[in-house]
Amino acid sequence: MTTATPTVEATNPFEVAQQQLNRALQYLEVSPGIAEFLRRPKRELSVNFPVRMDNGDIRMFTGYRVQHSTVRGPAKGGIRYHPQVSMDEVRALAMWMTWKCSLMNLPYGGAKGGVIVDPRELSPTELERMTRRFAYELIPVIGPDGDIPAPDVNTNAQIMAWMMDTYTMTLGHNAPGIVTGKPVQVGGSLGRREATGRGVMYTTVRALKHLGIPVKGARVVVQGFGNVGSVAAQQLQQQGARVIAVSDVSGGIYNPNGLDIDDVLKYAGGHGRLVAGYPEADAITNEELLALECDVLVPAALENQITAANAADIKAKIVAEGANGPTTPEADDILHERGIMVIPDILCNAGGVTVSYLEWVQNRQSFFWTEEEVNTRLERMMDESFHAVLDTAENVGVDMRMAAYILAVKRVVDVLQLRGFYP
Ligand code: NAD
Repeated sequence: MTTATPTVEATNPFEVAQQQLNRALQYLEVSPGIAEFLRRPKRELSVNFPVRMDNGDIRMFTGYRVQHSTVRGPAKGGIRYHPQVSMDEVRALAMWMTWKCSLMNLPYGGAKGGVIVDPRELSPTELERMTRRFAYELIPVIGPDGDIPAPDVNTNAQIMAWMMDTYTMTLGHNAPGIVTGKPVQVGGSLGRREATGRGVMYTTVRALKHLGIPVKGARVVVQGFGNVGSVAAQQLQQQGARVIAVSDVSGGIYNPNGLDIDDVLKYAGGHGRLVAGYPEADAITNEELLALECDVLVPAALENQITAANAADIKAKIVAEGANGPTTPEADDILHERGIMVIPDILCNAGGVTVSYLEWVQNRQSFFWTEEEVNTRLERMMDESFHAVLDTAENVGVDMRMAAYILAVKRVVDVLQLRGFYP
């Protein structure tokens, strides 16, 4: 595998996703036509839509939905609200969903959506109106059997409830399976909110065991303290690990003796969901946090956090990718050379879509499982995928990301060959 650092490193997420796919294709016998099919998103929707602000003004918003693949089933993927959302970011995230669902053996393709907005600038009523109008604009392309959205950065169960209600009211019949990650009261699944962080914990514990590092006392650093990062921190602490630093947009907090994550969550709850100023720790920057001496680093914020510029500074033994796309291909090479194990995003954070799938199954059967049943299924599915990836990495002699890609891309290609090309 290439080790030279190119002069300009690709940080456009779609270019990164393409590079990762191209690397995986080197290990698979795939015709040029099919390779090109895999590189291109199946369908892209771009919408500009008006929303009435609380003061009566009309403001225009831009949103996207990209369905990368429906080869293995309905497209599936989250909705992101962020000022930096772009079509290329959504394309990349949609492609990663295809590989993630395939790797987890879920009967789904991949999709993603987003709106260019900083939701903190909107009042709750403006957020609801924007969400409902965006959901309405998506109706031509989404559906419980076609494309099923879910939460992602800056979206949550409440936003999913508004999307489900908008779809249901417009179509005139109840359709809980249109989105996953809904509140439990409107057809959500027990365990869904915690599922991504729980999956990060399951894969991290298995990686620690594989490397012979005791979970008890393992030093963990988490970048991003939202749905994924905070739950991953909590879950790893419950397993006996010592979470020594966490961060969010406000910066990081560090205590080498270990943070009490429940207490940090309580503090953040009273401070705009931000950790800065937490009294039982020292303040550090996000850059310093990434370079801390630790056993496990969990990037759980956004893309491009570990690049050729800082990969040599990473001191963790395991990088557990809670976020999608936090590591560039060049950084992957540097980490691999340095013997750092990366649990790739499409495996590490797949707990979310896995329990989304379980939610969708429960919606279809209108019969709901206990949290224990959900978590048991999740653990079994994460365990199978983790070991399949590890075995492939060892047998083929590649890092964990390439192993995950080899398995995931091959499954999509196999289904494609069986289905053939319409007409
Ligand atoms: P979230 O909005 O709940 O939390 C994001 C967190 O990252 C916040 O704490 C925010 O302050 C922090 N953050 C943002 N920019 C940062 C920066 N530059 N430095 C440090 N922290 C920063 O979002 P989430 O749902 O937890 O998603 C986080 C990542 O996990 C994303 O990459 C997302 O695609 C991925 N993911 C989410 C799910 C899910 O179920 N929610 C599933 C799989 C993957």
